[in-house]
Amino acid sequence: MTKNKKSQEGLTVKKEEKFSEWFTQIIQKAELADLRYNVKGFLVFQPWSVLCMEKMYSYMEKALQKNQHKPYWFPTLIPESNLKKESTHISGFTPEVFWVTHGGNTKFEEKLALRPTSETAFYNMFSLWIRSYKDLPFKAYQRANIFRYETKATRPFLRSREFHWIETHCAHATEEDAIKQVHEDMETTKEVLGGTYCLPFIFFERPSWDRFPGAHRTFASDVLNPDGKVIQQPSTHIINQKFAKAFNIKFKDKDGKEKYVWTTCYGPAISRIFASIIAVHGDNKGLRFPWEIAPLQVVIVPIGENEKIKKKAEELKRKIQNFASVEIDYTDKRPGEKFNYWEMKGVPIRIDLGEKDLKKKKITLFRRDLDKKELVNEKDVLKRIKKISKEVTKNLKEKAQKLFRGKIKDVKTKKEIKKIIEEGGIARCNFCSVKKEGESCAEIIEKRMDAEVRGTSLNEKEKAKGKCIICGKPATEIVYIAKAY
Ligand SMILES: [Zn+2]
Repeated sequence: MTKNKKSQEGLTVKKEEKFSEWFTQIIQKAELADLRYNVKGFLVFQPWSVLCMEKMYSYMEKALQKNQHKPYWFPTLIPESNLKKESTHISGFTPEVFWVTHGGNTKFEEKLALRPTSETAFYNMFSLWIRSYKDLPFKAYQRANIFRYETKATRPFLRSREFHWIETHCAHATEEDAIKQVHEDMETTKEVLGGTYCLPFIFFERPSWDRFPGAHRTFASDVLNPDGKVIQQPSTHIINQKFAKAFNIKFKDKDGKEKYVWTTCYGPAISRIFASIIAVHGDNKGLRFPWEIAPLQVVIVPIGENEKIKKKAEELKRKIQNFASVEIDYTDKRPGEKFNYWEMKGVPIRIDLGEKDLKKKKITLFRRDLDKKELVNEKDVLKRIKKISKEVTKNLKEKAQKLFRGKIKDVKTKKEIKKIIEEGGIARCNFCSVKKEGESCAEIIEKRMDAEVRGTSLNEKEKAKGKCIICGKPATEIVYIAKAY
C-alpha cells in the first residue's frame, strides 16, 4: 500500500472547534472519498467507506426482509410520463432531475429521468401486480443509487448529486395499515440506526408545510451533528392517495368493492447515514466505528522485524479470522506511524505485537473506543477480544446518546430558543399548530432564529399545555426546533 504523505498526517483541527474543516480533513485523511472526479457534485467512494457501507446495507436489508419486504432491482431510467402523473411530485422533483435524451445519436421521443426516487417506477408496476386484498400488504424494496441535481453546495456523503440508498415501497388496504407501516419503519430505524449504527435520533412527524412532494404525511428521523445542525436521516411517508389514483393501483376488497391502495415509502440513505457515523462517532484522532460495521475489526501491528513475531502474528490472524475481520500491517512505516494510521482509520482493536511482551507471555491490545492500551495474558487474548467487541458498540452508543440527550432543552421564551440554537442544541416547546395555521409562527422562527420547526415526536409522552411560544394562542403540540442541513 502506498500512501501519499499528506494522508498520513493527523487531523490539524478539533472537531468541537471547527467541525466543517474537521469533516473535510477526515474524509481525505482516512481515505473515505476522492472528490477529484471530473463531474461536478459527484465523487468516488473509496474502499474504507464502501466496506463500512456494505455492512450497513446488509444490516438494514436483513431487518427489512425480516419484516417481509421483498428485494427488487428496478431500472435506473424512469419515463417522463411516469413522473408527470402526479402533479405535486413532479413539481417537487423536476428542478432536480437529470434527463437522458439520446441513445447514441438517436433522440428519444420521450425524455427519461435518472431516478431521483422511484415511486413512479414502482407504482407503474404495482398497478399490474396488485389485484386483490390478498395481495396486500405488498412490501417491496431496492438498494439503488439515485440522482438529484442539487443546487445547494454539495458535501461528500451528506449531499451529493448521486447517492446510495434503500427505498421501500409498500401498498396497503387502509390508511390504518399504512400508519402501522410507519411505526414498523420507525422500529426498523430504532433497531438498525440506533442499535447497530449507534446513532441517537428523534423520529418526527413533519409539519404539514414540510412534507415530501406528494406525501399525505411525512415522518423522519433527525440526527444531531456536532456543529449543532440536525441531519434528516431515514424518512417514511404515507403517500397521498392521488398517487394510487394517478397510477390506477386498485384492489378488490373483501366486500367485493374496488378500492385504491394506500402507499408508503421509507428511505434510509446509506451514504448519508455514513456521514452521521463519521460525525457522531469520530474524534480528534480520526474515525471510530461500532464493531458490527467497522471496515476492519482487528489490526495486528508487528513491532520489529523478527521471525518469531511474524509467526505469532500469522497464528493470531488465523485464529481471529474465525470470528472477526483481521489484517497484519507489514508496511515499512515506524510503529508510531502505524498506530496513528489505524487510529485515524478507526479500527476498534489493535494488537501491538512486541518481543518484550511475548517473552513474558503477554500481548498489548489497544482499543479505539476508549483510546486505551491493556496488557493481557497471551492465553486469554481471543477471549478478551471477543469481550471487547461487545463493549465497543455499547460504549459508542452510550457516549453518543448521553451527548444527544444533553442537547435537547425545554424552552419557554423566544430568547431561550435563540440561546439553545446558538449553543448547538435542540429546543423543545409548546406550539400552536403543525397544520397550515402554524406556518406563520414557523416562519418567524426561521427568520429570527435561523432555525426550523422539525415536527412532533412520535414518542412524545407529554401533552402540550399553555400557549404557543410565538403567537400566544393555545398550544396544541409540543414541537422540536433546530438548525438543519
Ligand atoms: Zn403560534
